[in-house]
Amino acid sequence: MASCSIFRTLRNCRFSSISPSPICRLINTLVLGEHDGGFVKPSTLSAVTAASSISKDNSISILLGGSGSALEKAVSHAASFHPLISQVLVADSDILMHPLAETWADLVHLLQQKSGYSYIISASSSFGKNILPRSAAILDVSPITDIIQISEPHLFVRPIYAGNALCTVRYTGTDPCMMTIRSTSFPIPSIQADSNHDAAPISQVDLSIFNKEKSMKSRWLKLTSQETDRPELGNARVVVTGGRALKSADNFKLLEKLAEKLGAAVGATRAAVDAGFVPNDLQVGQTGKIVAPELYMAFGVSGAIQHLAGMRDSKVIVAVNKDPDAPIFQVADYGLVADLFEVIPELLEKIPQKK
Ligand SMILES: Cc1cc2nc3c(=O)[nH]c(=O)nc-3n(C[C@H](O)[C@H](O)[C@H](O)COP(=O)(O)OP(=O)(O)OC[C@H]3O[C@@H](n4cnc5c(N)ncnc54)[C@H](O)[C@@H]3O)c2cc1C
Repeated sequence: MASCSIFRTLRNCRFSSISPSPICRLINTLVLGEHDGGFVKPSTLSAVTAASSISKDNSISILLGGSGSALEKAVSHAASFHPLISQVLVADSDILMHPLAETWADLVHLLQQKSGYSYIISASSSFGKNILPRSAAILDVSPITDIIQISEPHLFVRPIYAGNALCTVRYTGTDPCMMTIRSTSFPIPSIQADSNHDAAPISQVDLSIFNKEKSMKSRWLKLTSQETDRPELGNARVVVTGGRALKSADNFKLLEKLAEKLGAAVGATRAAVDAGFVPNDLQVGQTGKIVAPELYMAFGVSGAIQHLAGMRDSKVIVAVNKDPDAPIFQVADYGLVADLFEVIPELLEKIPQKK
């Protein structure tokens, strides 16, 4: 269904301009929404931006699930993005509190049967990567993942080979066209301060025919995560990353102190994660998180291709490495050939605490 037609190498690659073909019918899109602490997650808002770039005649509905006051607040937050968001769909049920693929995929199936969406989109987060493929299998369509550019309504660009080549994919299947997008490639829409538009209409999803028992193939046990005041790795403006060269979990605390001073998130290479210095939710790269912060600082990171796949789109890259031939210097905007155990303490001394 999805065919890979053109290959282009490396970052900053641009395609010859392709004139968008006019779409004569009104299209409707369902965005699978994630929320946290009463707010729609920035990655979901990026998915809304992606949906709006498909066509100006796109009617965008966002689906939010769960229950309680956090859901209520997130629904109001989503509704405030009207007219970009045409409708907020609320699936109010305890069984949707957690992102279990079986439950959510059945819900997506139910909504598709009812509304016949042209597109179903989610961010390429753990949530989206978990739910969208299962939903696509149930709906018997081929999903397109990790989209970084929407060239035409059915023509997309996505990275392949760990980000070393870009592939243009034309979707030739039936509706819905299902996709995950890289949130780092689509800006978060802002609510205009001077706008006096109404909030988007809110509709409750009728879950009376939703077969809850059928979805109960898996159970949510618990979430284990570290309590931290630092920003989330995927959305942070500044990321400081450490590699194997940090040698221990204790030494990683140096990097955490630097992150606190800069208001940054901490990242790590897979080698540092595998060595047990930090948990794997800090891993940046092909098999970790994809980040594109304003500033990415890499300490003792060699710059293996799989690591670059997760951070090469950062706006400014600073690398500190003892080895002048380390590949990280090929993508760095600023490089320092030095021992990180001298550089980090000096930075801690000289950088004032961020308020
Ligand atoms: C399928 C697959 C998927 C992968 N996915 C990922 C991924 O998602 N993310 C990821 O990061 N990796 C991933 N990897 C692993 C990747 O190939 C590299 O092995 C890893 O990124 C290396 O981590 P590193 O740079 O910390 O370690 P190393 O390669 O060991 O590099 C350490 C660097 O630190 C420098 N150094 C040493 N001491 C100091 C010092 N005192 N001061 C300054 N510099 C110093 C050295 O010069 C060296 O360049 C994947 C590999 C495979 C096969």
